[in-house]
Amino acid sequence: MEVLEEILRNAESAIQAAADLKSLDHCRVQYLGKKGQLTEYLKTVGQLPPEQRPLIGQKVNIAKDKIQTLIEQRDAELKQAQIADQLASESVDVTLPGRSQHFGSIHPLVKSFEAIRSIFTQMGFAFVEGPEIEDDFHNFTALNIPLLHPARAMQDTFYFPDGLLLRTHTSTVQIRAMKKMSVPLRIVAMGRVYRRDFDMTHTPMFHQMECLMVDEAISFADLKGLMTQFLREFFSADVPIRFRPSYFPFTEPSAEVDIGCLNCNAKGCRICKKTGWLEVLGCGMVHPNVLKGAGIDSERYRGFACGVGVDRLTLLRYGISDLRALFENDLRFLKQF
Ligand SMILES: [Zn+2]
Repeated sequence: MEVLEEILRNAESAIQAAADLKSLDHCRVQYLGKKGQLTEYLKTVGQLPPEQRPLIGQKVNIAKDKIQTLIEQRDAELKQAQIADQLASESVDVTLPGRSQHFGSIHPLVKSFEAIRSIFTQMGFAFVEGPEIEDDFHNFTALNIPLLHPARAMQDTFYFPDGLLLRTHTSTVQIRAMKKMSVPLRIVAMGRVYRRDFDMTHTPMFHQMECLMVDEAISFADLKGLMTQFLREFFSADVPIRFRPSYFPFTEPSAEVDIGCLNCNAKGCRICKKTGWLEVLGCGMVHPNVLKGAGIDSERYRGFACGVGVDRLTLLRYGISDLRALFENDLRFLKQF
């Protein structure tokens, strides 16, 4: 009897101590299983005197029922706790602030390209492309820059060992277009160009936009009108515009175009170096030698062209001070656009 009571006590404390369903099952096997302590004890009942057997058998059955009940109670408790845990861990706190979506933004340079494309497409220009690896002919000779011309030295060209080069301007596309397409023509080329230059306002790779129009009876007045309309639409402002005489080997006459400083309203500031003006592009009437070189009758046809640094235009459009910001891919910067 004492042994039976001890088994019962041990079983009770083991069941209460079972921290999870697995250890509770372990208790069941330990006390009620085929080789469990209670079953083993029951086997010893056979050795008792016959008159004691029914009483002991009855006690064993009561103990068995009690252990069974305790296990069921503990089982229910543990399952309840498990559900409570699960509810607590999977609950949603509806008072937490929502997670915002992060949308990408369009790079300011791409925005400029899109604006240029839209403005020139409306004016009837077609967009053409050309290779970034060019030969000497298309980059220099055909643009009226012969071998010993000083303009070659100004352009800090990247050369390949075989004499090919990275184009230093998109004017190369003019030559290819004039040779391939028939006149009259109106084209724009945009893309990457390369020069050996690196500081606050120069990067070895930058972007240019080139426009070319060739037709009969067109004049510098058409060029002036086109540039004025382009710049005013691009900057979405009625900015003052001035043309200054300049020199490029491939145009004659040539001009550089300034806009009134957007930062100070042409009053004079640090950005415009107190002049009130910002240089934005170069342009001119296509040099007859360039037309002739492309097989176009320069007596009958005339053309004008402009070349624009798209990166610089983008800096001015968005008030960005450092050119390198365009190429560093800093999300804090890019998210503003
Ligand atoms: Zn200014």
